Amino acid sequence: MLHRLKNDFRLSIITLLAFSAMVGVTPFAILRLVQGNSLAFVIDVLILAGVALATGHAWRTGDTRRAGLLMACVATSGAVIIGTLVGDPGLFWLYPCLVTSFFLTPPRVAMGINLSAVAVMMGLGDAFRSQEQMWSFAATAIVVTSCAFVFAIRNRDQRRRLEHLATIDPLTGVNNRRSMDQELAMAVAKHERTGLDQALVILDIDHFKKINDRYGHVVGDNILNELVALIAAHTRRYDQLFRFGGEEFVLLLPGVGPLALKSVVANLQRIVRQHLRGPGGQITVSYGVAVLQAGETVESWLTRADHALYRAKDAGRNRVIFADDAPRESMPVSA
Ligand code: GH3
Ligand code: MG
Ligand code: MG
Repeated sequence: MLHRLKNDFRLSIITLLAFSAMVGVTPFAILRLVQGNSLAFVIDVLILAGVALATGHAWRTGDTRRAGLLMACVATSGAVIIGTLVGDPGLFWLYPCLVTSFFLTPPRVAMGINLSAVAVMMGLGDAFRSQEQMWSFAATAIVVTSCAFVFAIRNRDQRRRLEHLATIDPLTGVNNRRSMDQELAMAVAKHERTGLDQALVILDIDHFKKINDRYGHVVGDNILNELVALIAAHTRRYDQLFRFGGEEFVLLLPGVGPLALKSVVANLQRIVRQHLRGPGGQITVSYGVAVLQAGETVESWLTRADHALYRAKDAGRNRVIFADDAPRESMPVSA
């Protein structure tokens, strides 16, 4: 439970708000009941029920997007109704709701919810003692919403930039090893769930150290980028390329069965062979290929592909080797 709260920001906000709503709204619900204001009492109870429903849904399904939207709508409409029913004291409840909308929903959605709440409250008009009070409310509510909006947009952009930095290899722009671990785990889970074929290819540039030593690291870097560009241009949109380390890359091919895989990899090998060039001429690449087997783990899948790559190196490099339980043939380069 603590692990989920720590790793899921929106779930932790939903839970915190649910707790605050229970502690903050329950005494008012009792007060309204004692005062004989049964309509306000029913509204408070409905707010608490909506909040409990959203929180339960978030914990049960992990769908915090919908739960957050429900919670923001329940809280702001509750605040609008209470403000309209009891006037000034209820009015103050809208301010925390205006801010928390941005914690619960994307910035533009929160902006829409907040502006609608302010417009409805002004349209009904019953919450205000005078025109002056109404326009003061409108101005302050819009200032609060605008500041929260700017802050939320900035926060979202920074989070996206951090996510990008954490998952992308800065030299080549492809996904890094960290992101590969996540995607391979998802591919295994999808295979178990749906039976979708999943294949992976490990590519390793041959004698890359010599190229670096002879022509320098900048030339080496350019070759890495050229290999990435070639692969990106000749694979499908949903194939994924990762930098495994140094001059090794992993290509994940979802939905490619053992038979099609042979021609897909042969085609890739042909393209790389034709186009990958350094100052000293052709640059060759070795390939280890493994099709995911039923019940297999990510580690075993990668290890089989890696062993196939080692066999390709041992057999003289510049070739494709399939791992043991896929088509076992070696495909030496003919040109
Ligand atoms: P093999 O054919 O057996 O794969 O030999 P190799 O020389 O390619 O393999 P080895 O693992 O001995 O050397 C890999 C080299 O890759 C060593 C390192 O200098 C180079 N390398 C790793 N990362 C980078 C990088 O980001 N840029 C450049 N230019 N070189 C890199
Ligand atoms: Mg190498
Ligand atoms: Mg290597």
